[in-house]
Amino acid sequence: LAKEAGKGTFRFFTEELHKELMEKTFFEMELRQALEKGQFLLHYQPQFDLTTGEIKGMEALARWNHPDRGFIPPLKFIPIAEENGFILPLGEWVLRTACTQAKAWQEQGFPPLRMSVNVSMRQFNLPSFVEDVRRILSETGLHPSHLNLEITESMMSDVKRCETVLQELYEAGITVSIDDFGTGYSSLLYLSKFPLSHLKIDQAFISELSKSNTAIVKAIIDLAKNLELNVIAEGVETEQQGNFLQQLGCNEVQGYLYSKPLPEKEIEQSLFHTV
Ligand code: C2E
Ligand code: MG
Ligand code: MG
Ligand code: MG
Repeated sequence: LAKEAGKGTFRFFTEELHKELMEKTFFEMELRQALEKGQFLLHYQPQFDLTTGEIKGMEALARWNHPDRGFIPPLKFIPIAEENGFILPLGEWVLRTACTQAKAWQEQGFPPLRMSVNVSMRQFNLPSFVEDVRRILSETGLHPSHLNLEITESMMSDVKRCETVLQELYEAGITVSIDDFGTGYSSLLYLSKFPLSHLKIDQAFISELSKSNTAIVKAIIDLAKNLELNVIAEGVETEQQGNFLQQLGCNEVQGYLYSKPLPEKEIEQSLFHTV
């Protein structure tokens, strides 16, 4: 195509590509340095019991506070970190920070909560993954039962690997949830065989409760009940969605209706009522 359009276009085309590549390389370099420079932080989004209103846990979500560009959302940097391997040191930092925070809150006298941490494919596939998690737990002093790992359906594609890892985590006393459930291709057979604690219904189904999405949400809740798994609905934004989920017997909810992800100080003020 470039050849047909003539020499000038070809040069323009390569210059554009070159610029993009340079930008990407620069972004990746900044990303790598961001960890050393202390530009990452975690926000925490609480998860509530839909029947009692009680807080059950919270999800740790990575934030990059870029000096010039402000907060960069994880969907902008997690996929790149996953691609170039930076997710390994970043993921370890997230895990350690979340465990340290959970332990610190317990020591301040706050009721012990489940701390959920997102795990990426690369981390999960690391031969030392379970060992790394156990080491971080013992270094931070957090009891394994207070850590929950969120994996996605894509990690279940290597069934043997997944089974081994999940069994080891289970034996270590660490619970595991399936995140963004309903958007991947998990086999229902493995869902029943693997030691899992929660299914998190993807927010795409909740945000638009169309007739078909309603049917899917109902089916996921029934499935989870029959497999004795807890269900957390993600991305709940309206009272109507909350009421609907309650009627269907959904166990827990997470979403802007209840709370946005918050920095640690705000969590302490709003949930634990301290100043
Ligand atoms: P996720 O694990 O499914 O996390 C839920 C996302 O939904 C979060 O986006 C959260 O802020 C957002 N959310 C929560 N409630 C609502 C709501 O009511 N409405 C809407 N529209 N959104 C809501 P966030 O923090 O931007 O993170 C996006 C994704 O980035 C996460 O999706 C997760 O896949 C990934 N991520 C974030 N932190 C980490 C991390 O530390 N490690 C890894 N591997 N992935 C991470
Ligand atoms: Mg998650
Ligand atoms: Mg999710
Ligand atoms: Mg997601």
